Amino acid sequence: MPLEIVTVPCRTDNYAFLAHDVATGATAVVDVPEAAPIMNALRERGWRASHILITHHHGDHVDGVKALAAATGARVIGAAADAHRLPRLDEAHSEGDAVRIGMDEGRIIDVSGHTMGHIAFHFPDSSVVFTGDSLMALGCGRLFEGTPATMWASLSKLAALAPETLVCSGHEYAQANARFALTIEPGNKALVSRSQAITAARDAGHPTVPSTLAEELATNPFLRANRAEVKAAIGMPDASDVAAFAEIRARKDRF
Ligand code: ZN
Ligand code: FE
Repeated sequence: MPLEIVTVPCRTDNYAFLAHDVATGATAVVDVPEAAPIMNALRERGWRASHILITHHHGDHVDGVKALAAATGARVIGAAADAHRLPRLDEAHSEGDAVRIGMDEGRIIDVSGHTMGHIAFHFPDSSVVFTGDSLMALGCGRLFEGTPATMWASLSKLAALAPETLVCSGHEYAQANARFALTIEPGNKALVSRSQAITAARDAGHPTVPSTLAEELATNPFLRANRAEVKAAIGMPDASDVAAFAEIRARKDRF
């Protein structure tokens, strides 16, 4: 049985996720921007948080960890590399390490770039990856600590996962991301129709997260920096993948 995934809106534009193993009742909470909406989401379903998985150290992903851990006794799991600046961890992990939620085994992927020590949690049997502020719906996190090469390497690891993988990322930024993506690839039909679907979803008050990796591969300009048509579109036909990615990221920062 795959993990059951619930998206929990927090603060103004953050998302936390519940990942529930029906067989055992184990429930992971991925990122805790604030405790209250997550406690409510757990209570509504009669679930108890058994694990808290932290993607990275920014306050809008960890501010509620202490309160949620105290209220539930959940095991707090995060990056060994970031243990010095995360809330107190019960388990500290590095790339390749396993994390078990009930019957489902996940793997840590180092996706540094937005911050160094940023990790993603991939559960292949459930076809889901929790990416925080690395790969996002039609976007990627701003490079606060890593270089373009670091982020490109991280995105390339995510791009290699199974295309049907559900991408659970940390923010509702898709509308602004779509406006930007259309400046890079105005003729990308999949992007144009996704952009329309995003507008419709937001008008109806629905989240645009999670998406699938297949959608991101077809439309996300950051993930597509290695494609000849994208390099041509930004006027850099002979650029390396990293240079093209760096240019697209720089344009987004100015957008
Ligand atoms: Zn962040
Ligand atoms: Fe964030």
